[in-house]
Amino acid sequence: MDYYSSQISHLIEELSRLPGIGTKSAQRLAFHLINMPKEQVENLANAMVEAKNNVRYCSQCYTLTDKELCPICSDSDRDQKTIMVVETTRDLAAYEKTGKYEGVYHVLHGAISPMLGVGPQDIKLKELMERLQGDVDEVIIATNSSLEGETTAMYISKLIKPTGIKVSRIASGVPVGGDLEYIDEVTLLRALEGRTQL
Ligand code: ZN
Repeated sequence: MDYYSSQISHLIEELSRLPGIGTKSAQRLAFHLINMPKEQVENLANAMVEAKNNVRYCSQCYTLTDKELCPICSDSDRDQKTIMVVETTRDLAAYEKTGKYEGVYHVLHGAISPMLGVGPQDIKLKELMERLQGDVDEVIIATNSSLEGETTAMYISKLIKPTGIKVSRIASGVPVGGDLEYIDEVTLLRALEGRTQL
């Protein structure tokens, strides 16, 4: 039974594909959009299309950016020889919010999970190893403390050890299974300062 015009139904259907948006929220958003000034709706639609078209991976650290090199990799004040390895761009943002980390990052875009069939070749690990052929002092592994995060940390440290580059793991204090992005800045900083060499 179609209570709404087919265009409203279509809008509700598309919105309900978004994560965390159930049918009720999708309906609410759809009616909100229809009642918004036309210009605002166009701005929103354009922002989505432009971001989708222009956002890509930084050619060095693989975070999401709209330039060849992200602002962090192209900042000469950052310590380009210290690389923090994180699972997602959101984790990078969490550490950036502390304002205290001066190195650069490497975003894996996932973590190794034999259960979900995600292997080392499915994340940006080969790209990390290629980066390490340059001038690097330390790799700080800041993957989440979930089973997948720990598996990934162990795997990476085994790969890096033979290269002689210092490898460290952020301290616990980050709760087990906790996603970095939800952890407060003080805890994140403590975890970074208390990192242990692997
Ligand atoms: Zn970058």
